Amino acid sequence: MKPWELRRAAAALFLPNRCPFCDELIGIRELWCVRCYNRLRFLSDPEETPEGLDGFMAVCRYTGRARSAVLRMKQGYYRYPIDAFAALIAENAKPLIDRAEVITAVPTGRARKMELGYAQSEKIAKLISEMTGKPFRSVLSVTAEKREQKLLNAEERRENALKAYSVSRPEDIRGKSVLVIDDVCTTGATLGAVADMLRNSGAASVMGAVFAKTVRK
Ligand SMILES: [Zn+2]
Repeated sequence: MKPWELRRAAAALFLPNRCPFCDELIGIRELWCVRCYNRLRFLSDPEETPEGLDGFMAVCRYTGRARSAVLRMKQGYYRYPIDAFAALIAENAKPLIDRAEVITAVPTGRARKMELGYAQSEKIAKLISEMTGKPFRSVLSVTAEKREQKLLNAEERRENALKAYSVSRPEDIRGKSVLVIDDVCTTGATLGAVADMLRNSGAASVMGAVFAKTVRK
């Protein structure tokens, strides 16, 4: 077993493993139940690549059980969703991970981190790094609290994201292919803005991989 699998098995001795998608009990080595896995709406084609990215992959649609798992994670039940999302991204975004030299994450805002005590996308990205052997670097930091994106149009979302983050460690990405991890992608405005920022700081290319993507009807 790999270190993360051992950690998971040890944790399951105290709190049994649950499927992040339906909350049912699952086996010690399982990350989800088969029924939920079969109902995920996998995106074989990554839909359109958000503007500004040199490659993009979303595991599945942000709907049904996938959405329930993300909401569960945001409510603080994060261990099961984070393990499952990392494993699914590691498997489904393999071509991008193979090309990447550095893995990083869209950081969580301070208020949210204080409230929840963890940064969800960073945790997913660190686990993917452990699963794949690609180095994780925390290169972005939060400069301002991001306004609620839901209420904004595409251009405002982009402006909002540009204001919210900055590159704190450009030396970690200079001349490198970077893969940015996030949990959910809605319009791609955040990932696109982050990609511009990383390229301006010297990244050779910037790709994005997320667990779920909202798909336009
Ligand atoms: Zn399930």
